[in-house]
Amino acid sequence: MTDNRHVKVLILGAGPAGLSAALYAARAELAPVVLTGMQLGGQAALTHTIENYPGFPEGVGGAQLGELFQKQAEHFGARVEFDMAHEVDFSHRPYKVTADSGEYFAESIIITTGASPVHLNVPGEVELTGRGVSYCATCDGWFFKDKKVVVVGGGDSAFEEGLFITRYASSVTLIHRRDEYRAGAILQKRAKEHPKMNFIMNTVITEAVGSDKLTALKLKNVVTGEESSFETDGLFIFIGHTPNTQMFQGKLEMSDLGYIKVNDKMETNIPGVYAAGEAADPHFRQVVTSAGMGAAAAIQATRYLESQEAESVHG
Ligand code: NAP
Repeated sequence: MTDNRHVKVLILGAGPAGLSAALYAARAELAPVVLTGMQLGGQAALTHTIENYPGFPEGVGGAQLGELFQKQAEHFGARVEFDMAHEVDFSHRPYKVTADSGEYFAESIIITTGASPVHLNVPGEVELTGRGVSYCATCDGWFFKDKKVVVVGGGDSAFEEGLFITRYASSVTLIHRRDEYRAGAILQKRAKEHPKMNFIMNTVITEAVGSDKLTALKLKNVVTGEESSFETDGLFIFIGHTPNTQMFQGKLEMSDLGYIKVNDKMETNIPGVYAAGEAADPHFRQVVTSAGMGAAAAIQATRYLESQEAESVHG
């Protein structure tokens, strides 16, 4: 029944959810195919060190963890394709997925397309991206050796990535729009004790300034209304994520924020189509929870395919 293009389980996305789903589906002898999309390893691969994935007491590099996930899934028979899906047809089985390399047909699909960073949407942000403005400390931190850097956001990502950038930058100033942070207590404590970290609260960035590279930010204090300019070489934006689910608009049930709706078995509203990880999870968004969701989706897909097979045998 299966060939290169007609598979039992097609997994869209190769982050922790997708590669865990691949491991479980491979061990169920379903020969899953994973389309990687843009980023093998997902967002986790862009994280320098992951300290809260069990089994790695000293922490593990994000890219390294992604490679280990991939290797383990491939060891049991998963096929990882560097291919990008851009259209789906769930109107009848086998479901059709159109990717850069052509069409795939699948008896079941696990969507693990993850999430992307939210933009600040201020003047200068787009023009200066890659010229001082960044969304990835692991990718770009090195370019800011002995430079002044601003991080915007008040969650775990802003604190964690801000601390990471202190390895390179001469100073890291964290700017947050409120007077309270969302970040966990341990990260906040570590950051507040770090000699290179500074904090500005109740303040928003209204413009990124610079012609060929970022030189300053325009700031506004939301309590006093006072406006000011802040000289900086870098701006790292960590203000949350939005799910990569545009492809499924109108094809699957989603929340108002674009997260795919799943039940406790990772089932979407289409039989045989599952979603896991950040595409379906607005709450936890951890490597371990995404991996768990991916495993659950694959177990459920396995049961679904077994039931379909039994149905066809018994007429
Ligand atoms: P987040 O928790 O949603 O925090 C986003 C932060 O950005 C908030 O402080 C928010 O401010 C601020 N913000 C949002 N829109 C903004 C705007 N337009 N202008 C200025 N500030 C804005 O996102 P996250 O930090 O990326 O974390 C996402 C999830 O991943 C969380 O569940 C987090 O726990 C998890 N995570 C965990 C770890 C870890 O465990 N080590 C590391 C990274 C991420 P308000 O507070 O005012 O809303």
